Amino acid sequence: MTITLGEGRTPLLEAPRLSARYGIELWLKWEGANPTGSFKDRGMSVAVTRAVEDGAHTLVCASTGNTAASCAAYAARAGLRATIVVVRGAAAGPKLTQVRAVGGEIVEVDGTFSDAFAHAERLASEPGHVLVNSTNPHRIEGQKSAALEILEQLGSPPDVLTLPYGGGGNTRAYALGFGDRLPRFHPVQAADRAGTVASAIRIVEPVHRVDVEEIVARTGGSIVTVDDEQIAAARDLLGREEGVFCEPASAAGIAGLERGTASGGERVVCVVTGHGLKAGA
Ligand SMILES: *Cc1c(COP(=O)(O)O)cnc(C)c1O
Repeated sequence: MTITLGEGRTPLLEAPRLSARYGIELWLKWEGANPTGSFKDRGMSVAVTRAVEDGAHTLVCASTGNTAASCAAYAARAGLRATIVVVRGAAAGPKLTQVRAVGGEIVEVDGTFSDAFAHAERLASEPGHVLVNSTNPHRIEGQKSAALEILEQLGSPPDVLTLPYGGGGNTRAYALGFGDRLPRFHPVQAADRAGTVASAIRIVEPVHRVDVEEIVARTGGSIVTVDDEQIAAARDLLGREEGVFCEPASAAGIAGLERGTASGGERVVCVVTGHGLKAGA
């Protein structure tokens, strides 16, 4: 039985004003339209479906907030328990509200995301527990679906793909999804990975770093680094110019375009990863 809340099949929106601004053909893959408001739902559906098949009773994850909201919702849907490890004070309030609303248990730890992840790995080593971070291969498999949708929606691959770069799992998923029809990849990270306002990408040690660097090199792209001011400005620009309200991390791709990652009429897809209502400010 598939554990689903109706994830995926998200809109690919034209962005006429931002297209004119950058001299490109820009499309927004609007992942805030997923059931819990971020792309995490795509992979969670697959990971939780597999966990149920394997007889698990408890899902465990470490999270900056969106994996938490997604994990807890799909656990409730499947009739499983969810234990969510977060760094104290690091996850946006509305994301924790989402977890509590569906009965997830929140465990707070001091330190960085890596400390939270280590704690989650320890909890998940107990029998009947499954870790549903992006190191779970079923997460990546599910997230691939976004690239397949883009191929369907556009009829061909774009020239350029840009998206926020936190742990890098989503960059890997898109590369797998596009297969041998890869666009040029421009993952965008926060200059201050430890303290950025973009809490969804506040990850000091990206667990998929080696793969992300390989994908960027293979496609002739680059890893773009932007500061918090650029992220905030991009978030405002996306809202005011195109009517799309996203959380700060989700505007990283637009911040990258401001820095000139695409030009000359290129067809660009910017992945807008999560909803603005999640940010709580
Ligand atoms: C998880 C998340 C990211 C980062 O994705 P990675 O796969 O960790 O690189 C970016 N934006 C939002 C809204 C997220 O929830």
